[in-house]
Amino acid sequence: MLDHDLHCHSNISDGTLTPAELVARAAERGVKVLALTDHDDMDGLAEARAAAAQHGITFINGVEISVSWRSHTVHIVGLNIDPGYLPLVEGLRNVRSGRGARAKKMADELAKAGIGGTLQGAYRYAENPNMIGRAHFARYLVEAGHCKDVKSVFNRYLATGKPGYVPHQWAALADTISWIRGSGGVAVLAHPGRYMTGRKSMGKQTMRELLAEFAGLGGQAIEVVSGSHTPEQYAEFARYAEEFELLCSCGSDFHGPDESWRDMGRLPDFPLDCRPVWEAWENNA
Ligand code: AMP
Ligand code: MN
Ligand code: MN
Ligand code: MN
Repeated sequence: MLDHDLHCHSNISDGTLTPAELVARAAERGVKVLALTDHDDMDGLAEARAAAAQHGITFINGVEISVSWRSHTVHIVGLNIDPGYLPLVEGLRNVRSGRGARAKKMADELAKAGIGGTLQGAYRYAENPNMIGRAHFARYLVEAGHCKDVKSVFNRYLATGKPGYVPHQWAALADTISWIRGSGGVAVLAHPGRYMTGRKSMGKQTMRELLAEFAGLGGQAIEVVSGSHTPEQYAEFARYAEEFELLCSCGSDFHGPDESWRDMGRLPDFPLDCRPVWEAWENNA
């Protein structure tokens, strides 16, 4: 079992726990090395780091950046970043800036589909209004009785091509990797398996092109053991890691009790031959 969890969310983005609550849960579940990786925002890191020190957990500064690559949205996790690095701070501010207008459009689309009041409803769930996103809409739609849980809301209304889905331009892959690397961090392709399932998913050839471009731009790792991967996908992405000479990362992608693929920590071991991503910072220490 791995005692590292290098991907999770607090209510600074679309998780439901505060950074301190999240760290307490990780400690309780045996996590020894934790990275908080909120979407497009680093405001939870100081609180999480302080809480981690109290629980005797090693804390890694992280972030998960939303990227538009070709016609796909992909997520790049930055690990061991410096949250004071200005190009990263300013880059993330830009990435966040479109969320308000996007939320308004989503609410308009949902209204056309016969569901009103979602903008105000979603904002009630967004602790950090700058980070309003689909998960906040989903929670409100469950509350209002339109679906039984968050997953069904995505399937019916919010996934690509559904009535409340609004396409959006996120950061460029090259910029994202340069902000992360420039700050001293490691760039990790998050949950690659998710880009290969569902509507508008990429095929194997496109995944190879993405990995080649990612590695060519300085990307160093991919998530192999992810809360949103199946055991078959652990093996599949371990092979991609080997082919593209990438390090392997692991994380639950926990968002909150009751609505995540997986709870924090207790992740299964890497397939053999995986070189763990922490080699990157342990060797530089
Ligand atoms: P956004 O950045 O606003 O587009 O929201 C993306 C977030 O929505 C992801 O980070 C997940 O937390 C959540 N999400 C995306 N797809 C699903 C899904 N099928 N089921 C549950 N949550 C999802
Ligand atoms: Mn999320
Ligand atoms: Mn993600
Ligand atoms: Mn995530």
